[in-house]
Amino acid sequence: MTVHHFTVDLEEYFQVAAFEPHVARSAWGRFESRVAWQVELLLELLERHEARGTFFVLGWLAERQVELIRAIARAGHEIASHGWDHARVTNQTPAQFRASIRRSKAVLEGITGTPVLGFRAPNFSIVPGREWALDLLIEEGYRYDSSLFPVRRPGYGYPSGSSDPHWLERPAGGGGLVEIPPTTLRWWGMRLPAAGGAYFRLLPYALVQAAFRQCERRGVPGTFYIHPWELDADQPRVSCSWLTRVRHYGGLRATAPRLDRLLTEFPFTAVRDTVPSVRASAAVNAA
Ligand SMILES: [Zn+2]
Repeated sequence: MTVHHFTVDLEEYFQVAAFEPHVARSAWGRFESRVAWQVELLLELLERHEARGTFFVLGWLAERQVELIRAIARAGHEIASHGWDHARVTNQTPAQFRASIRRSKAVLEGITGTPVLGFRAPNFSIVPGREWALDLLIEEGYRYDSSLFPVRRPGYGYPSGSSDPHWLERPAGGGGLVEIPPTTLRWWGMRLPAAGGAYFRLLPYALVQAAFRQCERRGVPGTFYIHPWELDADQPRVSCSWLTRVRHYGGLRATAPRLDRLLTEFPFTAVRDTVPSVRASAAVNAA
């Protein structure tokens, strides 16, 4: 039986990349924090379905929500890094990126007492030309990455990437790491993002379902992703463009019932549970 990955990008509603032009990082402290009860809803849902997941947490948030991060880990879920302050890799120098992945890993490990193995870049921003970020992840002790979205989208995407979990050999990084791409739907020779975020809320559920069924036919785990604020229809509104409004606020009330259905139809676990087997199969193929 194929068990899929349930992943959460743990950030506040005002920290999303689309709001960058409207909300300065220096203003974050003035916003109402809503993440604790949003996460509580998620934890309840996961528990009801006996599902486990991976939470990619911002270091900035972890420092302010120590008890919340401990509660997530105590419930059996994996804590991984989403960087320090949601800066996109495309806006960082290698030195800034290194500082962000090093500091967030140290803070998260200090809170849970468990090694942090995984990383997901804000807005999937390891794009072609930014592969040095993968080398730095290896150097800083990360075992897997989940940032290469194998689609072509404005601002993000890694179109040449593989669709399924795979081993990425990095000559400069002195080894390699496991890559866990978010799931895409194969459709008429194209790959469509269908397994998370706004796509999960706004597209017909059947497309998401089809993407995970395709993974099962290939015998590989799919990777679903969601943000806690997507369960919060009453979050304070940030003034932004029409398109951003549709993407951020559209379908919020559908998130919880859809999640319930997804968790009923498919079994989910944390990414760390499948990393060793991806690594081992790469070693067998190389031998
Ligand atoms: Zn994010």
